[in-house]
Amino acid sequence: MNANHWKNRLKKGFNKLKDVLTGKTQITNRLKFHALIGSIASVHVLLLVLFCVFQIMPLFYFNILSVLTYAACFWLMWGEREHYLTIYFITYIEVILHSLAATICLGWNFGFAQYIIAIVPVGFYICYTLDIRQKKFTIATLSAVFSSAAFLACKFLSFFGEPLVETDNIALELSLYVFNSLCAFVFLILFSLVFVFEMKLSSNRLKHQNAILDKLASTDPLTGLYNRRSMDIFLNQAVESASSFALIMCDIDNFKKVNDTYGHDFGDVVLKGIAGITSDQVKGKGYVCRWGGEEILILINNASEESSLRIAENIRRNVANRVFELNNKWIHCSLTLGVALYDGKESVEDTITRADYNLYCGKRNGKNAVVL
Ligand code: GH3
Ligand code: MG
Ligand code: MG
Repeated sequence: MNANHWKNRLKKGFNKLKDVLTGKTQITNRLKFHALIGSIASVHVLLLVLFCVFQIMPLFYFNILSVLTYAACFWLMWGEREHYLTIYFITYIEVILHSLAATICLGWNFGFAQYIIAIVPVGFYICYTLDIRQKKFTIATLSAVFSSAAFLACKFLSFFGEPLVETDNIALELSLYVFNSLCAFVFLILFSLVFVFEMKLSSNRLKHQNAILDKLASTDPLTGLYNRRSMDIFLNQAVESASSFALIMCDIDNFKKVNDTYGHDFGDVVLKGIAGITSDQVKGKGYVCRWGGEEILILINNASEESSLRIAENIRRNVANRVFELNNKWIHCSLTLGVALYDGKESVEDTITRADYNLYCGKRNGKNAVVL
């Protein structure tokens, strides 16, 4: 394995971390549990070495058992196995027993009871963020209540009894107290951070999904134009804002013939193409919606006769000049547009009827026209 190999692995790891932090990749349960068990097991390995060096044999043996317990936890996560609730219980019981055993052996001043406090948020985190359905609230709350009882038990056991292992090594006592405090705080801080991070992530995911649903509910899937429901909202807003606006009703000329001659798929291509042209011409000036089958209704805000006619004429000309293509077949199409200005007195329905009537006049007079 050369330097390049490690460089690549480092880069991959960094990219994965970036994906997790930006929400592109979800943190899997597997990853969460590996991180949890890995970090607790590392602390136990360190303690194992310390107890061996300082000849605190009862705790040295206890830690051998602890390390084996965490090895078993890793085994429970091997392959497809996902015994997460079992792993949580094993970890929880091990931490409580370890704190009790260490306090009985060395006394209160070494700070082992702090791990009992550190494990409390872990229970809530695991039960609420992982998909463990069985009695989430009960599990987390009972664990927390039991933790407080175990913490007090440590205090009473050390208060009423002498430590099993006599040490007058003040430096060791202080060092272990600092080490245990730091570990407990790192756990607390890390879990709080991960909790906040996951909440933010899931709220972002929800916002993103809402935006998709919003788009689905307000647009027409074939053309991407607004649907009738959205247009009703825009029309109401336009009336309420008391501004002058124009409505342009468009209908593709001889569209049945296009469908009958070249097929429905070709008809769809034409419809999408015309939707694109209208959107481009109206961009920033109003809204375009698919009103019916091949009818498009355009709302132009702050419109005058002149500006709305200019927009309608641009659309008509662009459609007439466009060549529509599918499977090496090319055709021309045209559009007839009826324009009506909202006068502030009539209802929007009346304005739509007038635009429709103008469209009808355009159709009767030879199509491919704009009528005001
Ligand atoms: P005119 O010039 O008078 O408008 O004649 P026309 O043939 O266009 O008549 P009309 O406007 O009544 O045609 C409506 C046709 O539009 C009928 C229907 O098959 C077609 N149509 C409606 N929706 C769609 C669609 O989503 N895709 C396709 N390909 N055709 C559609
Ligand atoms: Mg029609
Ligand atoms: Mg038509």
